[in-house]
Amino acid sequence: MAVIEILPDLFFIQRGYLNGNHFVYRSEDPVLIDTGYIAGFPDTEKLIAGLGVDLSRVRLIINTHCHCDHIGGNRAIQDRSGCEIAIHEIGKYFIDTRDAWSTWWRYYVQEAEFFSCAIGLKDGQVVSVGPYDFKVIYTPGHSADGIVLYNEQEKVLISSDILWENDVAVMTVRIEGSRAVFSLMESLDKIQSLDVKMVYPGHGNPFSDVDSALEKARKRLRQFLENPKRIGNDLIKKIIVYTLMMKQGADEESLFDYLMTTPWFVETVNLYFEGNYRPKYDDAMHSFLKRGVVKRKDGRIFTTIKP
Ligand SMILES: [Zn+2]
Repeated sequence: MAVIEILPDLFFIQRGYLNGNHFVYRSEDPVLIDTGYIAGFPDTEKLIAGLGVDLSRVRLIINTHCHCDHIGGNRAIQDRSGCEIAIHEIGKYFIDTRDAWSTWWRYYVQEAEFFSCAIGLKDGQVVSVGPYDFKVIYTPGHSADGIVLYNEQEKVLISSDILWENDVAVMTVRIEGSRAVFSLMESLDKIQSLDVKMVYPGHGNPFSDVDSALEKARKRLRQFLENPKRIGNDLIKKIIVYTLMMKQGADEESLFDYLMTTPWFVETVNLYFEGNYRPKYDDAMHSFLKRGVVKRKDGRIFTTIKP
């Protein structure tokens, strides 16, 4: 975990993959951007308090999208502070209508709590984070409600799960629709048109080489379009690792049976791999163990990736 003051009193908190990275604006009226995963809340709370920010005084939370690793602390912080929460108007609709499917929570069997959302953000709107103005740029593809936040003056981009340094976030075509890859391509074009000095992503390290990240992302997406099975493989790998993070490891014997009870695993294997559940699971596990992404200990398996 790393805490970086990216602008005076505006802090970037780098987490891992279970918890999205998040931001804290320290003042009498603190503002947060994203709040990690629900199980990571004790750490989130400590990290924020460590900056001298009192959670009961938080005035506003801005969410980059409604996925569980970005909204996990919302409910607890709102209960304590009565803060307003702002999310893209489509995400607000999902939250207002208690739609646990469009948010992906039920599809992936993730833990999350609904909260009350006062503000629906629109493309082009400017949100104030203390003295810093961030333009809301609507960037769907990864999620229907995805936004990035851009500060023109400092050329800072908060890119969430739209642009990472070396990889793309998981594509959930079943929920986002078959055009999702094209939508994400268009969202990357929007980012390309910005003058950006530093990118703070939703997961992983900050980076400055935007063109290289865009090129890598586009290459991945072109590969997805050329061979959709790659989307299936990427999804199976990422979500199994994510599941191991959420559950803090699993009993090796029962993980496969558990996955067979989840909507996403069965459906992804049906969609891309003709229902070959066990071979797909074994392939993924074999490659994880070989690469050291997953380790065995006393009949249990764990991921070595930082949660
Ligand atoms: Zn996401």
